[in-house]
Amino acid sequence: MLKKDDQVTIEIEDIGTDGAGIGKADGYTLFVKDAVIGDIIKAKVIKAKKTYGYARLMEIITPSKDRVEPVCPVARQCGGCQIQQMSYSAQLKYKQKLVRDNLARIGGITDCEVLPVIGMENPFNYRNKAQYPVGRNKDGKVVIGFYAGRTHSIVDYTQCAIGAPENAQILEKIRTFINENNISVYDEQSHKGLIRHILIRTGKHTGQIMVCLIINGKTLPHADKLADCLKDISGMSSIMININKERTNVILGSECSVIWGNSYIEDSICGIMFRISPLSFFQVNPVQTEKLYCKALEYAELTGNETVWDLYCGIGTISLLMATKARKVYGVEIVPQAIEDAKNNALRNSLNNAEFFVGKAEEVVPRIYDEDMKKAENEPVDSKESSGLSDSASFESVMRINPDVVVVDPPRKGCDETLLDTIVKMNPKRIVYVSCDSATLARDLKYLAANGYEIDRVQPVDQFAHTVHIETVILLSRTAPDAVIKVNLDMSELDVTSAESKATYKEIQEYVQNKYGLHVTNLYIAQVKQEFGIIERKNYNVGAGKSRVPQVTPEKREAIIDALKYFQMIV
Ligand code: SAH
Repeated sequence: MLKKDDQVTIEIEDIGTDGAGIGKADGYTLFVKDAVIGDIIKAKVIKAKKTYGYARLMEIITPSKDRVEPVCPVARQCGGCQIQQMSYSAQLKYKQKLVRDNLARIGGITDCEVLPVIGMENPFNYRNKAQYPVGRNKDGKVVIGFYAGRTHSIVDYTQCAIGAPENAQILEKIRTFINENNISVYDEQSHKGLIRHILIRTGKHTGQIMVCLIINGKTLPHADKLADCLKDISGMSSIMININKERTNVILGSECSVIWGNSYIEDSICGIMFRISPLSFFQVNPVQTEKLYCKALEYAELTGNETVWDLYCGIGTISLLMATKARKVYGVEIVPQAIEDAKNNALRNSLNNAEFFVGKAEEVVPRIYDEDMKKAENEPVDSKESSGLSDSASFESVMRINPDVVVVDPPRKGCDETLLDTIVKMNPKRIVYVSCDSATLARDLKYLAANGYEIDRVQPVDQFAHTVHIETVILLSRTAPDAVIKVNLDMSELDVTSAESKATYKEIQEYVQNKYGLHVTNLYIAQVKQEFGIIERKNYNVGAGKSRVPQVTPEKREAIIDALKYFQMIV
């Protein structure tokens, strides 16, 4: 076993999930940050555990064929990019293997092909968002830059190679503003000082820029001077402050206010224009996002009639893209401001077939499912029925619990099992899973695979060149389409046509109530009508297999048949 400060020469044979190279010295495993598979290096042990240890890269004796000179001079100190020293093509292969390994190790999934990663044409300057910590160094100088790997000491560097090129100019102007106006900067230890972080967002297609100062206080002194020095930068459209007075690593607080310009910036994805507030999530790589979302849309296979849920919808990016090709889309998101953005975005793009709910997906979706299920079983048809129109409230209820497609795009922790359970009950034909963490993805796919879904496609898309992160879009299909009953009503089948004109749903209900003392829902009436061919739905199989949607009981079926005869709709 090795001990601290031992020096060894090793060959790097593998790479860990955090990007560190892995090599062996006399059977003892060492993790070496900044080392690349194929490198022969000299390393110094910095931490020795029983079976493995961590070592520092001291010297590259023979470089790997995949090793390149990092573009960024602070690549080794900065915790942002873990693998800039690896050629981009090697990075893509590594990420494909990472997804494959996680699916196998965590999900037990070995029988599906992980497609080659869709890479970036230019893997630099791709980020549309950056959050720079602000502090002071030992000499009392203001530092703005990035946290060094695994620490909170700030590397003073404003020219990040993956960020937007204009950020450096903005940050230097803010540095001057802080110095000239003696504004205090935040100190984590004492929890004192004002300026904590600087958030910059840019709209790739619109060129709009937002600058947001995150402060440990209520107001920013000389805010007008800050506006004066930033507002002439080309594209500047929003200067804001965000208040975060908590002792926390979470960057943003919940309160924002405008110093100058708008409270949002705009950008477009696949031709749809989005309004983005500082607190809303927006994918950071606009070029790759379009590729990712196009894949998600392709996997959803929409023809115009579908009902779609988009869970973890953010500002409605995927929802609205789907809404251009689906009958109806329901989005769910936990951040209220993001849902405000989503509703606004739907309006501004004239997409009126998307509806949004605020809350945790794992709470909202099961609640709506239970409510809609009750409605489908019990709710009387409303007064619109009597005028011959369909009952759109319970119609939507039926559609919502029977979506064709469910899209999920959760944060790194993946989906809550309560949510997966409800999705399985809803029994969609397809699930499109967009994941930013292949480990939690593997866990969730294992659950879905054990509950009636098979994995058809696994497509990684690189959104984060030079980091170990990888986005993946997965298509899952229902394995046993006949095992459950699919109710797929649409407005046209509830239309007043031929035989149906003879009695409305409400009249049938009243007849059954008066004669038999039974309450029948329009879902049940529709089921019997379909049985007799009065309405026709190709997916509307009555009575086959295990039902997850309420089915008319024999007693109620007889009563409805009697009503249909009474109204001369059948003989
Ligand atoms: N689909 C969107 C957002 C994906 S990021 C897009 O591509 O732009 C994940 C989103 O999930 C974030 O907006 C985050 O605020 C939200 N979120 C996190 N936990 C959640 C939960 N439990 N329920 C619903 N939304 C959640």
